Amino acid sequence: MIAVHGTRHGPAFGGIRRAVYAGVDSAVADALRLAHAMTLKCMTVGVAGGGGKCVLMDHPDLDAHRAYRWLGRHIEAMGGRFFTGPDVGTGPEQLAALAQTTRFAISPGDFDGLTNATTSGVLAGLRAVARELDEPGLGNLSFVIQGVGGVGARVAEQLVAAGGCVAIADTDAARVAATRDQLGVTVIAPEAVLATECDVFVPCAFGGVLAADTIARLRCRAVAGSANNQLTVPSDARLLADRGILYAPDFMVSAGGLIAGAGHHPLWPPTQNADTTVDCIETLLVDLFARARASGVAPADLATAEAEQRLRAGDGTWFAHEQA
Ligand code: NAD
Repeated sequence: MIAVHGTRHGPAFGGIRRAVYAGVDSAVADALRLAHAMTLKCMTVGVAGGGGKCVLMDHPDLDAHRAYRWLGRHIEAMGGRFFTGPDVGTGPEQLAALAQTTRFAISPGDFDGLTNATTSGVLAGLRAVARELDEPGLGNLSFVIQGVGGVGARVAEQLVAAGGCVAIADTDAARVAATRDQLGVTVIAPEAVLATECDVFVPCAFGGVLAADTIARLRCRAVAGSANNQLTVPSDARLLADRGILYAPDFMVSAGGLIAGAGHHPLWPPTQNADTTVDCIETLLVDLFARARASGVAPADLATAEAEQRLRAGDGTWFAHEQA
C-alpha cells in the first residue's frame, strides 16, 4: 500500500514499513495514519513536501527481495511524486533491492546517516523538554527508553554521554543485553515502562503507546521519543496536559530523518528552508511549549492546528511545476 497524503507543497516523503497486519484494512489504516503524520512533520519543521508512507504486509512466505524490487517499479512509475526510505522492517538490505528498480528511495549507504539524524532530532527534542522543565540540561534528568533498536540505542548512548540517568526496556533480549553491556544502563521489563518513575519517558518502539489507560499509569514529567503516532487518538494530548505531563509532539521529535532524507530526492533538491536543520527541532519546540503554556492549549493540539493551516496555504501547484 502506498499512501500519499498530499503533494501540495512538494513530493510526498515517507518510509516503507514492513510488518505483519491482521488484514488489508488495518494495513491501509496504518499507511494513511503514518502518511498524515509525515505531512505534519513537513509542515512543522519547514520541509517543502508532503506526507507519504508505504506499508508492505509481511508474511512467512514473502520473498522480500522480489517484493522490494516490484515495489520499486511502482514507486519509479510515480515519477518522483513519492520519495521513500527506511522504516521498521526496511533496512540497508531492503533499500539495496529497491535501488535496483527506482531512483526515488534513500540509498543503502545513507541508512546510518538517516538513523543518526533521527537520533540527533530526538536529542534536540529532549533538550527542549529539559528547558521547559526548567532543568539546566539532560544530565540532571532520568529517562526510561522504550525500545533500543536503531534509534533508541543511539539515544541511550547520547543520554549516557550527557550524564543522564537511563533505564531501558526492549522485547528483544539480545538488543537489551547489548545496550546494557555497552552502556551500563539499568534494564527494566517491557511491561514496567509506564509505571517506572522518571523525568522523561522516551517511546522509541511503536505507535499507540499513549491512550487513556496508559496515560493514567505514567509516572513521568514529560514524554518525548521517536515512535510515530504515539497518541492513540488526538484527544490524548489533552489527557496528558491535564495530568501535568509535558508531551513533545512525536511528529516534531522524530523529524530528523525526514530533514536529512528529503534532500536526497533526485529531482527536487530544494526541499527545505535554509534554516531547517535537525537542530531547529529544539528551537521550534521551545517556542511551541511557551505558546502552549501561554494559551492553555496542549502542545500537540497547537502544533497540529498550525501544521494544518500551513498545509492549506500551499497553492497546490508543485507537481505541475515539476512536470514542466
Ligand atoms: P527498530 O525496529 O530498529 O527498533 C524498535 C525496537 O523496539 C526494537 O528493538 C524492538 O524489539 C523494540 N520493541 C518492540 N516492541 C516493544 C515493546 N513492547 N517494548 C519495548 N521494546 C519494544 O526501529 P527504529 O528505527 O529504532 O525506530 C523506532 C521508532 O521510531 C519506530 O516507531 C519508527 O517508526 C520511529 N521512527 C524512526 C525513524 C528512523 O530514522 N529510524 C524516523 C522517524 C521515526
